[in-house]
Amino acid sequence: MTTFKTLDDLPHDLTGQRALVRVDLNLPMADGEATDLTRARAVAPTILELADRGAKVLLLAHFGRPKGKRHSTMSTSFIQGAIEGVLDKEIMFISEVAGPVVTQSIDILRAGDIGLLENTRFWPGEEANDTEFAKGIAAHGDFYVNDAFSAAHRAHASTEGLAHLLPAYAGRAMQKELEALSAALDNPMPPVAALVGGAKVSSKLAVLEHLVTKVQHLIIGGGMANTFLAANGVDVGKSLCEHDLTGTATAILEAADKAGCTVHLPYDVVVSKEFAANPPSLRTCNVHEVAEDEMILDIGPQAVEALGDVLKTCKTLVWNGPLGAFETPPFDAATMSLAKTAAALTSEGSLVSVAGGGDTVAALAQAGVTGEVTYISTAGGAFLEWMEGKELPGVAALQK
Ligand code: ADP
Ligand code: MG
Repeated sequence: MTTFKTLDDLPHDLTGQRALVRVDLNLPMADGEATDLTRARAVAPTILELADRGAKVLLLAHFGRPKGKRHSTMSTSFIQGAIEGVLDKEIMFISEVAGPVVTQSIDILRAGDIGLLENTRFWPGEEANDTEFAKGIAAHGDFYVNDAFSAAHRAHASTEGLAHLLPAYAGRAMQKELEALSAALDNPMPPVAALVGGAKVSSKLAVLEHLVTKVQHLIIGGGMANTFLAANGVDVGKSLCEHDLTGTATAILEAADKAGCTVHLPYDVVVSKEFAANPPSLRTCNVHEVAEDEMILDIGPQAVEALGDVLKTCKTLVWNGPLGAFETPPFDAATMSLAKTAAALTSEGSLVSVAGGGDTVAALAQAGVTGEVTYISTAGGAFLEWMEGKELPGVAALQK
């Protein structure tokens, strides 16, 4: 069980204390406007709670990839307005992360005020996790809060280094994420099903290798299922398939067998000759009947029904990767259907469901089940590294 300090381990009254808070405010932008405020909303509870408890809240964030230099288009001042909107509060922009400008700005802040420091990645010490750079920042804080799980797979000064220099706490979003992930893989209720889909085996090899040792059911869908089918001697036609990885796929199947993990591959699939919406050549067939000029673009309805039955016997589901090319109808059918089954089982209380991954989050939103899944991680790279069983440096540094 992960043990880390949270905001509950701080004295309730934080009046005048300086909180250095690492957040993920790397908001997607178009024409100078933030197009999605999800990340800002996720960290708002931590910021507002610390401010309510009287702290001077100093936000540390990266924005874009300035590679260790000041970059006129990547100042965090561009996201100030968006954050103010989400918090419904004015905040002060501070054009440095250390030094006299920061000291003077903090003097101006009153208890409960919020300051937004400049993009941490303007300084090479950030990504290098340079101790002197981290010490410069740490000098402006009484304690450190990390609320950026999505950046926790990187050992940077603001995500890892600071935790060694100041008393360190997980923010509310970090806490929620760690608790949800722990309930899904570290201490899950068995039986556990892992559903791994998406385009390619090569991008998720480490995930598959780790999962077969952890779960009772491994469901493989999406383009990556084709490589496993090919490994089993199925002719997958023109499907997306990594033929050079069939040996690896066989090794994973053998490892699963040894570990007592049942691997579920589809036995029917949805195919077409062209990759387009509702193509004329669309048909559903057994995996052994795919023609040489056809592509597998989704798993079939029989497979979906069987997988629904598997989920009904499970207590925990961890899901990364869509089952088909869900952006193009009707190849979204399997993903939508299984998402609804998982959501219904979760609502009934028989399944704990945790999902993550950029396209997976989009697919679940498309299925309209975002509110019913137990936890959806928007952390991308950090979520996948967690699924690989890796220790995330930003999380490790928070351990008690
Ligand atoms: P995530 O972002 O959730 O980790 P991935 O990026 O690994 O997921 O995979 C998502 C992509 O996989 C989607 O763009 C989807 O269209 C594609 N995909 C899924 N199944 C297939 C398939 N059978 N053939 C081609 N592409 C597929
Ligand atoms: Mg993706």
